Amino acid sequence: MNSVARIPANEHGINPREIDKRARSILKALTRAGYEAYLVGGGVRDLMLGFHPKDFDIATSATPEQVKQVLPSTRIIGRRFRLAHVHFGRDYYEVATFRAPHDKTGGGKTGEHGRIIHDNVYGTVVEDAYRRDFSINAFFYDLQTGEVLDFVGAKEDLQKRQLRMIGDPVVRYREDPVRMLRAIRFAAKLDLSIEPASEVPIHHFGFLLDNIAPARLFDEALKIFHGGKAIKTLQLLRQYKLLQRLFPAAERGLQEEEKQLAEKPDEGSFHKLVYAALQNTDRRIRKNLPVTPAFLFAVMLWKQVCEAAKEYQEQGNPALQSMHLAASDAFSEQVKYLSVPRRFSNMTREIWTLQGLFNFKNQRRVLNFLEHRRFRAAYDFMCLRAASGETTSDNCDWWTLVQEVDMDEKIRMCQRAAPGKHKNKKRTRQKRRISE
Ligand code: ATP
Ligand code: MG
Repeated sequence: MNSVARIPANEHGINPREIDKRARSILKALTRAGYEAYLVGGGVRDLMLGFHPKDFDIATSATPEQVKQVLPSTRIIGRRFRLAHVHFGRDYYEVATFRAPHDKTGGGKTGEHGRIIHDNVYGTVVEDAYRRDFSINAFFYDLQTGEVLDFVGAKEDLQKRQLRMIGDPVVRYREDPVRMLRAIRFAAKLDLSIEPASEVPIHHFGFLLDNIAPARLFDEALKIFHGGKAIKTLQLLRQYKLLQRLFPAAERGLQEEEKQLAEKPDEGSFHKLVYAALQNTDRRIRKNLPVTPAFLFAVMLWKQVCEAAKEYQEQGNPALQSMHLAASDAFSEQVKYLSVPRRFSNMTREIWTLQGLFNFKNQRRVLNFLEHRRFRAAYDFMCLRAASGETTSDNCDWWTLVQEVDMDEKIRMCQRAAPGKHKNKKRTRQKRRISE
């Protein structure tokens, strides 16, 4: 268990200059003070696979307090998992003390289904390697020697470009079912296969995600859908029957369409909406444009909300109120799976309730709507609905153009689109003047 393979620089190919300067300065400060310190996790993995890492995590033999002594800008966070955040202004780097793997007889504690509840026991570098999830997430880069340390036989997995769970996959997924979502996320993002023994349990263990706190699943869902590979991840999530653990309404909606359109399931409008939206998200991430979770919820819950709103209307409720009632129903189901912070659910509601306004083309309403703070999000959503065939593409074209032209042309467009309305208004105004 304790044998270590040392991969020299000419083999792993990491150039120290690819490592963030500040992360290097933390590693140097800790080793100078006599502690062990390595770059670990996604940073090393991504560099070895030829990707550009998004962050650099550090593991050390120093306790959080010792890290703070060496690097005074450190803030210690967390009660259960105490971590050191070394600050550089608003940016910070996570420095974690080596942790022992979870062990029932030690400080770790498991709950029902074998889930880990506490595992805040410090350990050695070897133990720290073994408590990690996938072998390629357990490489330790030593800046001093330039070597990558491999305690878990990860080199072979790297060569095969595969994800292999360290230890017994069944036990490890039971300990922390979120590892199944991580497997799917990494497989999609880094184009890796999942080694068979690590893959099989994922097909059967979806139910374990029901025990995970909705707030954690929200964080994980964002990493999944805002990681730049949303389409591929969605396909994998569905393949492993895990989408229903995150967005049950979306999975139901997609399945209903598939039943109805057994011949050509991908021609369903909800299917097209979801795919067009995720493609759009992936494109925005590639271009470094902002993305909001509110949009993800707007898409995933749309079919359910439309159907429920229609029913409320049939029961005699006004259109807008029906939409609000349907939205409340949809969110009360959704938050049982993953939490939806209020600011996002409010924005999603606005995106939905504003959809009706795209049908009104009279000048006053159009000019007001263009100024609305949620116009852009609502417009993007309407165009996706048009692309999915749910509404006409004329509306998307019209609203695209009206944003681009000058004020005079905006007014002319409104007059052409809603001529009757303008005439009527003029007439009412004249009538009013006569009666005054
Ligand atoms: P990325 O940051 O690119 O999403 P990552 O692998 O760095 O990927 P983090 O969540 O930043 O993911 O975690 C850092 C490291 O901590 C992982 O590489 C892994 O070694 C370990 N780790 C994270 N989550 C778990 C988990 N649920 N179980 C075991 N080890 C984990
Ligand atoms: Mg990371």
